[in-house]
Amino acid sequence: MNVTANSVWNNCLAFIQDNIQPQAFKTWFEPIKPIKLSENSLSIQVPSKFFYEWLEEHYVKLLKVALTRELGDQAKLVYIIKMENTYGNREPFTEQIPSTNRGQMSPQEMDVPIQSKNPELKNPFVIPGIRNIKIESQLNPNYNFDNFLEGDSNRLARSAGMAVANKPGGTSFNPLLIFGGVGLGKTHLAHAIGVEIKDKYPERTVLYISAEKFTQQYIESVKKNTRNDFIHFYQLIDVLVIDDVQFFSGKSGTQDVFFHIFNHLHQNGKQVILTSDKAPVDMQDIEQRLLSRFKWGLSAELQNPDYETRISILKNKLYRDGVEMPKEIVEYVAKHIKTNIRELEGAIISLIAQSSFNKKEVTLELAQQVVEKFVKNTKREVSIDYIQKVVSDYFEMDVATLQSKTRKRHIVQARQLAMFFAKKFTKASLASIGSQIGKRDHATVLHACKTVDNLAETDKQFRKYIEDLTKKFS
Ligand code: ADP
Ligand code: MG
Repeated sequence: MNVTANSVWNNCLAFIQDNIQPQAFKTWFEPIKPIKLSENSLSIQVPSKFFYEWLEEHYVKLLKVALTRELGDQAKLVYIIKMENTYGNREPFTEQIPSTNRGQMSPQEMDVPIQSKNPELKNPFVIPGIRNIKIESQLNPNYNFDNFLEGDSNRLARSAGMAVANKPGGTSFNPLLIFGGVGLGKTHLAHAIGVEIKDKYPERTVLYISAEKFTQQYIESVKKNTRNDFIHFYQLIDVLVIDDVQFFSGKSGTQDVFFHIFNHLHQNGKQVILTSDKAPVDMQDIEQRLLSRFKWGLSAELQNPDYETRISILKNKLYRDGVEMPKEIVEYVAKHIKTNIRELEGAIISLIAQSSFNKKEVTLELAQQVVEKFVKNTKREVSIDYIQKVVSDYFEMDVATLQSKTRKRHIVQARQLAMFFAKKFTKASLASIGSQIGKRDHATVLHACKTVDNLAETDKQFRKYIEDLTKKFS
């Protein structure tokens, strides 16, 4: 029998296909080309380094088993990576990397001949990507336009979103920045735009990602020396949705890389959609050049929903769940939860649950209890601005004084308390807290937190301050 690279690989494929999901097989194995077989070593060509890393990370074991079946214990696998030259030279160049057996292998299996030149190479992305590989959009189909109810509070943002979805990259709303407070529908609307685009233009690559995840990926890529791959990946996207960009504040490396990606996408007529919990003018610690880019397109605010909108959101929720609820209950909930649609929904879901578990009518009294719980919980989501305000009020000074450079003891203490509470009650980083409380650095914040901890143990009066203030925040 004539054994060739092709025949060996085809047998491997048959085995692999039997062992993984069809979609994964299509994505990760069909694009591979067998190139060469010499003795017990098979060379296969993969479309990119990223692709190679993905295979090594997820399928090395399967590949090894398949190959060993064909070529015996001494089997070797060599990847040939076909790379695009980024400098416009058409000639593709190749790089050969032997397969490794890191990670999932058990110790006995470690002595397979296959060794690593690049043991630190690993997939920098959570999402499969690059070139002819399908990029998963990460969109949630449950967040669509159909169930994003319209009202005065969201009309501008909603219709801008629609316009963008009809003509991604083709309107002056680029970027489209959706901003507004917690629970007002930013994430929902951002998904809805993406979902609609996917529906209308299935061939476009849409990617939804939170700013936090984007930042993590970026940091990983720097660590692993794959920053260029990271940028390259994002430059392939047609519609990029980044949620909660306020998370970029104080992170200059991430801002820098995003700036480059943004420019590239924008220049190429790609659509960028951003959400933020603040208007661009109120964003702290975002570089000016980035802020000015945000203003190129449209900033559309999601405001607190008015009473009518709150009623229709509640009714819609009940309707979709096939639940009936007395009108007065719905009105009671809508009247009392005004500034957060997530809580509005949470309250009604809680009522639905209570009524179905206990098999009893929802009474106004029960509604009151539930609403009270939600309204109380709202207070937990405090901002650094709010903390500074409360602490300043408590010590009867204004916020500017609290932030000032003075070394007067009571002012320093107030400032340190504000930093301490910001650390305790928000998710902000030390650097971000510092920059928002009088432009201090992260070391100062860290020192403040330690000082407060120490004083809390040794100083009775100080402990009282902490107790009083804590009550105001919880
Ligand atoms: P944000 O990202 O602004 O914090 P979300 O997008 O997560 O808020 O929205 C919170 C909840 O409120 C979600 O369950 C969302 O579906 C719902 N919601 C927000 N706006 C609307 C709307 N206009 N119509 C229906 N549901 C909405
Ligand atoms: Mg959100």
